Amino acid sequence: MVKKEIAILGGGPAGLMAAERLSEAGHIVTVYDAMPTVARKFLLAGKSGLNITHSEDYEDFTSRFGASNIHLRDALDGFTPSDVRAWAAALGTETFVGSSGRVFPTVMKASPLLRAWLRKLEASGVSILTRHRWVGFSDGGYVIAAPEGTKVIQPDAALLALGGVSWPRLGSDGAWIPWMRERGIAVDHFQPANCGFDVDWSDVLRQRFSGTPVKAVTATSAAGTIPGEFVISHQGIEGSLVYAHAAALRDKLSLGKPTSLVVDLAPGRSLERIAHDLGRQDPKASLTNRLRKGAGIDGIKTSLLRELASGECLSDPARLARLIKALPIPVLRPRPIAEAISSAGGIGWDEIDPDYMLKTLPGLFVSGEMINWEAPTGGYLLTACLATGRAAALGIDKWLRTA
Ligand SMILES: Cc1cc2nc3c(=O)[nH]c(=O)nc-3n(C[C@H](O)[C@H](O)[C@H](O)COP(=O)(O)OP(=O)(O)OC[C@H]3O[C@@H](n4cnc5c(N)ncnc54)[C@H](O)[C@@H]3O)c2cc1C
Repeated sequence: MVKKEIAILGGGPAGLMAAERLSEAGHIVTVYDAMPTVARKFLLAGKSGLNITHSEDYEDFTSRFGASNIHLRDALDGFTPSDVRAWAAALGTETFVGSSGRVFPTVMKASPLLRAWLRKLEASGVSILTRHRWVGFSDGGYVIAAPEGTKVIQPDAALLALGGVSWPRLGSDGAWIPWMRERGIAVDHFQPANCGFDVDWSDVLRQRFSGTPVKAVTATSAAGTIPGEFVISHQGIEGSLVYAHAAALRDKLSLGKPTSLVVDLAPGRSLERIAHDLGRQDPKASLTNRLRKGAGIDGIKTSLLRELASGECLSDPARLARLIKALPIPVLRPRPIAEAISSAGGIGWDEIDPDYMLKTLPGLFVSGEMINWEAPTGGYLLTACLATGRAAALGIDKWLRTA
């Protein structure tokens, strides 16, 4: 076999997985990354334990990718959640299934896995060039700005693995969007995914409760009714339960419609029971006491009711019970994309062939979060980035054998 030179632009999980597969296939692989070190977002994900995949039923797992499931399915079938766990284990990182079904390394961080991964890539001959930023196309090549100056590379094939546009200071800044559009590639508008939302809190609530978790609730939107917890932030609401509803809330807001996340503050008690128990409280007692004794509600949950309900509602047991079971928190807008866990939008699926090659730019492949798909938190993002990196690598190998 003739060894081919492959450039991978972007050294996040998608790019590194592609590098692993392509070096195993015997190619000469160079990873170019703009930052001083690779995989910074992967390392940041490790700060909250590195939720690397999910253990739920595989059909349920793939359904989390919504409309993109149909496009991602082959890549996911080729690198399933079990494969993710086996891959991590082969690199010395054992994983466990948390109570929610999410899968984490037992060490609850990303650095040992990344170190072992980079050692493996180095041992198999992959060159990783950091501080090497792709800055655009030149005729037949890719312009790289490197510490020693600007150069043009002309690999046999190239893979873009440049990430989405959340947390741009970690490297994925979307600078590539205009270069792709100039080449006629449709890049769908990037939007925040798995993000917080602004809420017009009063100064009192903001000052007293920023950072406070609201635990053991369910929240409802067009995404369904989901149990969990969220956090009151200075600007609004954030946290895993909010992220699970983020796409539904964002899409409704984009239609210009008033939008609320509807929260059940006491999911373990029926409306009838709460209305009955509140009705038995002394109407002259304080709201705090009535809620505590009649509904088992206190702290931030009481404050949320005070913040969002009218005085009339708070003094009427039946109306108060209805609000406890379905308190609408009006959201104004998503938090900026730079703060989001991930982004929706990116290179449109119509641009990509089943092997992840751009149909109009033969020899140039794409992978990871820069493609237009989204998924909730839960390990789906990293699994799909690894899976598309692998699928694009297989596509590159196939194309090089036949081109
Ligand atoms: C706070 C946080 C926590 C997260 N936690 C989880 C989690 O627990 N589980 C999960 O599944 N997902 C999580 N994610 C999401 C996950 O980290 C991303 O989806 C994933 O890293 C995307 O991988 P990628 O390879 O597509 O892109 P990235 O990881 O963004 O990597 C892209 C790389 O391309 C480089 N690059 C960009 N432009 C250029 C250029 N012009 N030239 C050269 N290099 C360039 C960047 O420097 C970067 O290294 C989290 C994200 C954040 C922000």
